Amino acid sequence: MRKGHCAERVRLVNGARDQFKPTRVHVAKRRPIKPKKYGKPCAARMLDTGIGNKMRLSSKCFAVLGLAYVPPWTVNAGFVVGDTHTLIIDTGANASAAATIHGYAEAVRPTNNILVISTEQHLDHVGGNAYFRDLGIDVYGHARIARTDGELADSIDEYNACIPDKARRDRHEGAIPLVNTRIANPNQAIVADTELELGRLSVQIILTPGHTPTNLSVFVPDDSVLFCGDCIVSDYLPNLEGGTEKDWQVWLHSLDRIRALGPNVLVPGHGRVVQGQEVVLEIQRVQQIVERAIGVGFAPTKLDQTALMPS
Ligand SMILES: [Zn+2]
Repeated sequence: MRKGHCAERVRLVNGARDQFKPTRVHVAKRRPIKPKKYGKPCAARMLDTGIGNKMRLSSKCFAVLGLAYVPPWTVNAGFVVGDTHTLIIDTGANASAAATIHGYAEAVRPTNNILVISTEQHLDHVGGNAYFRDLGIDVYGHARIARTDGELADSIDEYNACIPDKARRDRHEGAIPLVNTRIANPNQAIVADTELELGRLSVQIILTPGHTPTNLSVFVPDDSVLFCGDCIVSDYLPNLEGGTEKDWQVWLHSLDRIRALGPNVLVPGHGRVVQGQEVVLEIQRVQQIVERAIGVGFAPTKLDQTALMPS
């Protein structure tokens, strides 16, 4: 992303308003951006007009997309609604995100009992867990998830360091999104593939490690919807920095498992929802990136070697 690009757009629009002239954006005349190197997302993918931004994916499956996180990341969550229980998948990075997800989930079927599951250990997926535990709601997750408040404090510092404005950085405004947020690890341990019954609706919890050892996915066979956490992130480079080549080999096996499920709709941990043939392409894209990382021996976000990677 070019620095200053957004600021220039804002100045142009404001200037036009000052002169009471409407601003027209001729989208059709824009030249498509061709990816020249690894790391530049395909413009066609980013202009998705299909299921990518939808919240209601089926009568029982919902996505909550675009929750705030450290730029350029936003993080996704979702929920699945049975006749008696609603399963919330991931809780965002903070208590506010958790409250938002909870509000949507309750609105769809207010009489249901709520359950929560964490797709992995990273704080963008478990930051809102304490909000739910404080309400007495069970949080499922891999048995090895064991985060600490010290790690949360480090994360707040990282968040703060991303603020471009020095005055805001000096005021430590990066802590504001994390107000009332503390660590709560899952209280219902998952150690193997599991089935949860939500009331005339079964969901499958499938271990899909690789990104971290704690990654799992939630599959809803009735609707062919898969919530896969960060095993697959659409458009973004997946984050391989937390693992080794051995972990990346495990990741490939998890991708094979997802491919074998053949979901029609895939809700990734980050990025837009994909459907149909795009699911196959996203699995393949992440697979190629992981395979190349294994081949060269480092994560794609390391060094300038990213030019060697496939797009
Ligand atoms: Zn994530």
